[in-house]
Amino acid sequence: MFDFTDRKMTEKHAIRIIGAPFDGTVSFRPGARFGPAAIRAASDGIETYSPILGLDLESISYSDSGDLELPMGCVERSLGVIREAVDDCLVDSVIPFLLGGEHLVSLPAIEAVYEKYPDLVVIQLDAHADQREDYLGVKLSHACVMRRVGEFLGQENIQQLGIRSGTRDEYQLMHENGTLTTFLTADLDDLIAWIGDRPVYLTVDLDVFDPASFPGTGTPEPGGIDWWTFQRFIKLMQGCEVVGLDAVELAPKLDTSDCSSVLAAKCVREMLLAVSVGQHL
Ligand code: MN
Ligand code: MN
Repeated sequence: MFDFTDRKMTEKHAIRIIGAPFDGTVSFRPGARFGPAAIRAASDGIETYSPILGLDLESISYSDSGDLELPMGCVERSLGVIREAVDDCLVDSVIPFLLGGEHLVSLPAIEAVYEKYPDLVVIQLDAHADQREDYLGVKLSHACVMRRVGEFLGQENIQQLGIRSGTRDEYQLMHENGTLTTFLTADLDDLIAWIGDRPVYLTVDLDVFDPASFPGTGTPEPGGIDWWTFQRFIKLMQGCEVVGLDAVELAPKLDTSDCSSVLAAKCVREMLLAVSVGQHL
């Protein structure tokens, strides 16, 4: 069983888990604020060993710093608290691993990591483009997070996988900038070649999974990937230098079976293991 709540901050570590229980801008069904706690609870039922990656959480260096205290009604301040926590990681030379929360929590994390790694590329797994200029007049929304990231990072440094929903304008922007790719083997090989030796921020909006296996999310979208597709992807990421990552948009109370929380916890395990290369105890 893996229960990362017993990995306390006192230990020296290479990867730091940070809960960001924020869902202040969700557009459809709220509840992502309960994501980090549900992932921790579900992690207790998951083995520490990944047979696909051949690695065990028992032998990698990470810790869980718990959940941030976020003023839910104040978006800017909440993002500021997340930014400070990620900055602390970078000062301590540890890899930040955010657990959302909604997708907007990735924005301050990517900003902080980009400041340290100016040649950063961002890989986004998501059902949704998140490339809106604004959502109902609001620019700081989970529906706009990749658009905001593109403003400082450059859209040419973003690759998006699993996208199957967006406005006409979003699709035009993504086509113009060539940000869209797929999980087909040839495309994944091209993706890894495109990344090269550049540092990577990996942001996984868990609604990239099909709602059949992951119904516990605020904005479910039919036509998503299955577990094995994710597994193939994450195994390839082992060869990359991931310097920051997150898993967002689990809204556990929307799935009374708790299977979504279990899937999220298993994703977190695989992501921890995949980025742990060179970080072993
Ligand atoms: Mn998203
Ligand atoms: Mn999404």
